[in-house]
Amino acid sequence: QPMGSWSNEQIGASVKENVMLTWAPSKMKNNLPIITHGEGVYLWDSNGKKYLDWTSQAVCTNGGHTVSENIKSAVAEQLDRTPFVYGGMAMCEVRARLSNIISSVLPEGLTGCAFPSSGSEANEAAITMARRYTGKTKIINWYRSYHGGTTNSLEATGDFRRWYIQPPPGFVKAHNPNPYFFEFAGATEEEKTEMSLLMLEEQILYEGADHVACIMLESIPGAAGVLTLPEGYMQGVRALCDKYGILLHLDEVMVGFGRTGNMWGFQHYDGVVPDIVTSAKGLSSSITPISMVAVSDKMMEFFEENPMGWGSTFQAHPVAMAAAYANIKEMLSNDVIGHVQEMAPIFEAHMKECASSHPSIKQYRAAGLFGALDIVSPDGTQPHHFNAPRTEATAAYAKAFNEVGLIGLFRPPVIHIAPPLIINEAEIKEGFEKQHQALDVLDKALGY
Ligand code: PLP
Repeated sequence: QPMGSWSNEQIGASVKENVMLTWAPSKMKNNLPIITHGEGVYLWDSNGKKYLDWTSQAVCTNGGHTVSENIKSAVAEQLDRTPFVYGGMAMCEVRARLSNIISSVLPEGLTGCAFPSSGSEANEAAITMARRYTGKTKIINWYRSYHGGTTNSLEATGDFRRWYIQPPPGFVKAHNPNPYFFEFAGATEEEKTEMSLLMLEEQILYEGADHVACIMLESIPGAAGVLTLPEGYMQGVRALCDKYGILLHLDEVMVGFGRTGNMWGFQHYDGVVPDIVTSAKGLSSSITPISMVAVSDKMMEFFEENPMGWGSTFQAHPVAMAAAYANIKEMLSNDVIGHVQEMAPIFEAHMKECASSHPSIKQYRAAGLFGALDIVSPDGTQPHHFNAPRTEATAAYAKAFNEVGLIGLFRPPVIHIAPPLIINEAEIKEGFEKQHQALDVLDKALGY
């Protein structure tokens, strides 16, 4: 039986019996649409309902749902040559080409490239490299960040590879300059930057600069709600890293490859070049699962002589790399970044309109085609998601959101909006018309 020949009942029965969800209780799977196909920025479900992909799934289907002939033939060509050679045992042309094109779109000084399969794995590799390169163990990260979902496999391992496990103390959490439960009352952007950097420096000193291998941050925290940074902050972090001999690792898993209107999110911060960059999602527009780590020349030199201390069967998967390579070529030849820059002010005007016309929205943030709306209740509190069940109001909103024909992530109190980067002006307008309808339901449900 070819794919597409199962009835909705057959699919539903197997989903019910055999399928598990990951971050949510599995029974929620029964409410999810069964997607049959997609085209451009749209997806269709098995009842024929059409959805606009309003957060590019997990902020990753940057090229939309139509795969070009170029990408299809690049994948088919690699399948014809060979679907797989193990990256530790053999090289292939597509790996050389992909490393080369990525180096060419990175700032000078970042060269070495590796290709794990997910953002989490890219960060695993990067963390291990930072520790091995510096000989130090601590990593400073922010609260209000997401870097991935792996922890336990290497601990469970019973051979020499577990010798690469670095003992705790490991991860130190710093506040980012957008703390959730307090504001820098009345502070200007400049003062916010100054205070945040002073706090960070104090933290470095009390952790012991000689123990801190790396500061690892999202260039613009995404899942936390597009937390754009105050002017000068990231330059200050870079300067602290230089002052104390600490590496700067910027996690571009969500924002890399054009999401915010630049190739890299860190290009919003004049003069900032990280020592390590990780990315995924937009690298292949999620046509195949692949991620990347790029490191500085100096680190590259070190790892010419020393093993990275990380690996996986599917790293540098030729078929995954073929899709990524063709995707980047296409992104560049279609000037997707120029298109995002053109759409950005239109997108932002709509975001602003959402915040000003709905009392349930406290404020918005936007960069390129990456936006977040903050929900606020009439009493000034925010329905948040720290393990809390959804409130009736946010559940009513989520239902309305799907009914109007949008599909997207929803993590109260944040509404993420991040459509595929190929979206045009009319589709943006259509999406926001639907967004307004869903927000009308939220306003009402919150009691405004
Ligand atoms: N880093 C960031 C900034 C992310 O947003 C994510 C996923 O959303 C990850 C890492 C983890 O990537 P993956 O889900 O591909 O493992």
